[in-house]
Amino acid sequence: MAGGQPFLAHRAADLVGSIIDSSTSLLARQTHDIVRFAMGAPSDDLMPVELLDRYAAHAVPGKYSYGATEGEPALVEQIVKLQAAHGITTTTERITVTTGGMQGLDLACKLFIDPGDLVIVEGPTYTNGNATALSYGADLLEAPVDEDGLVVEALPDLIAQAGRTPKSIYTIPNFQNPSGVTQSQGRRERLLELAAEWGSVIIDDDPYGLLRFENNPIPEFSQLDPGNPQVFSVRTFSKILAPGLRIGWVDTDPGLQPLLINAKQAMDTCTSVPTQQIVTAFLAGEHLQPHLDRVRGIYRERKEAMRAALRRHFGDAVRATDPDGGFFLWVTFADKRIDTQALFEIALAEGVAYIPGPAFSVGGNFHDALRLCFATSTPERIDEGVARLARAVDLIGATR
Ligand code: PMP
Repeated sequence: MAGGQPFLAHRAADLVGSIIDSSTSLLARQTHDIVRFAMGAPSDDLMPVELLDRYAAHAVPGKYSYGATEGEPALVEQIVKLQAAHGITTTTERITVTTGGMQGLDLACKLFIDPGDLVIVEGPTYTNGNATALSYGADLLEAPVDEDGLVVEALPDLIAQAGRTPKSIYTIPNFQNPSGVTQSQGRRERLLELAAEWGSVIIDDDPYGLLRFENNPIPEFSQLDPGNPQVFSVRTFSKILAPGLRIGWVDTDPGLQPLLINAKQAMDTCTSVPTQQIVTAFLAGEHLQPHLDRVRGIYRERKEAMRAALRRHFGDAVRATDPDGGFFLWVTFADKRIDTQALFEIALAEGVAYIPGPAFSVGGNFHDALRLCFATSTPERIDEGVARLARAVDLIGATR
């Protein structure tokens, strides 16, 4: 029985917490100096706090009232403009504002997943995406990921083995969380074909797409197949602006919007109006593009600093991905005896935090891997943090 409590619903047993999110509280309790590679959030010094504060102080009519469930019309218009500026054609009827990207994922699962439905997820993938699908009773099928993202060619065999087609496919196409890899155009095209063949919905979760700092963008699903009702796109301002605002949006077939509104009304009635107004003013003031230009250069520098530090302190003992954008590097140890969950406590004592690989896998895989966020630390701190990680690995080796 879930939690040993007779009064709980059966679904309570499927509510898995987020190791990533709990690491925020764990880290807040530490009193010694820690280089923080764990959380995937923009660092405070890279958020345009003064501008946001200035807009927060504006008195806009209706600021403290309930708003429209689908979002403040002025924000919806700004989102359509933002997308157009990046070559994405969308319309106001396709946009529903959400309480962060997480609510977009929850709405997708609420609309598409019945208990027992098969859902393909990437292995590794974003923990909370798995957790959301599990909370709706999904059976998750973990599919491999390589340098070109989800290995779409592997899916037909996996589906044949499972003996049934997936109800939906959850993918993070750009600078994937946690691996940092990007799905190639060929694989995106093939995934659209397979989704059409199987009648599956692609849950296209892309919080990092506008944080590309290398190479050219790869067309989105919505650009490869405009208007496809089987593509459900989840977006957020959390990584490109500030996560505490809790503003995101979904871009979907307009026919779904009445259902989205009903589903969202049963969650939170409407997204916070004051924070929507702050984001609207920030976008209308044309501050996002200069902000993105600035932070992308900094993230590139930090990624390079992290790769250099890994080479310096680990040499051939680890393999790291080389992301074209976003926040994360995925590190795999050559020594398969290393267990990154066991290493975590020693690393924390040494003064460095990361997320162990198994947190990103429904099957508990990737014990020899870990996720590092390069976005939140300066190059000097990155070098210090990687040096501390190397000391922790030496210490765990010495105990064997
Ligand atoms: N999807 C992915 C892949 C993410 O990395 C995150 C944030 N870590 C989210 C969704 C959730 O975004 P938000 O904080 O806007 O809810």
